[in-house]
Amino acid sequence: MSHSRRLIILTGPTAVGKGTVEAALRAKHPEIWVSVSATTRAPRPGEENGKDYIFLSNDSFNQMKEAGDFLETAVVHGMAQYGTPLQPVLDHLTNDALPPVLEIDLQGARRVKKHAAELGLEILSIFLAPPSFDDLISRLSERGTESEEQKKARLQTARTELAAQDEFDCVIVNQTVDSAADELWDAIASGIETI
Ligand code: 5GP
Repeated sequence: MSHSRRLIILTGPTAVGKGTVEAALRAKHPEIWVSVSATTRAPRPGEENGKDYIFLSNDSFNQMKEAGDFLETAVVHGMAQYGTPLQPVLDHLTNDALPPVLEIDLQGARRVKKHAAELGLEILSIFLAPPSFDDLISRLSERGTESEEQKKARLQTARTELAAQDEFDCVIVNQTVDSAADELWDAIASGIETI
């Protein structure tokens, strides 16, 4: 069977270090393509439009949604909309040897999985977990980019996401960035056929 329609979903709670692990993975394997999501949340200091996210107004996001331009969308932490633009994923599914990677929340992961068969996709879902809940709390505080109210909402979502980790094909604990990136690569590469 061809793996050209294989898709990787990476989910993990707030501040678990998905971005850092992904950056380490891309540094080791630059051929991997990770989808750039659209969001209505404001950029954090240092985030670049088009690279970290496509930052959109609510109106522009809703227009794209109505036009069917997203593979999936979700309101995350009850605060902002996030969505995976469909066309780039289709392009990379067709053209790349490696499966595209979507870094999305639990709701998005569930939606893509639910529609996988009709979309002709084979999904490998991976959950990146923190070593402990306390670890998440301290990482979120260290990041210092969220208000108290935002932190509370994010930790609430984190509890729900952590409780759902059994739904995923594979759980990777972020003990160190390097080991998590290697485990992620092993999971991605495990389904690739050698000819
Ligand atoms: P952050 O605001 O911290 O960058 O991301 C918040 C959450 O939104 C994270 O759990 C992240 O995985 C999720 N997220 C980012 N992009 C998307 C997307 O396109 N779709 C969905 N469903 N979730 C996303």
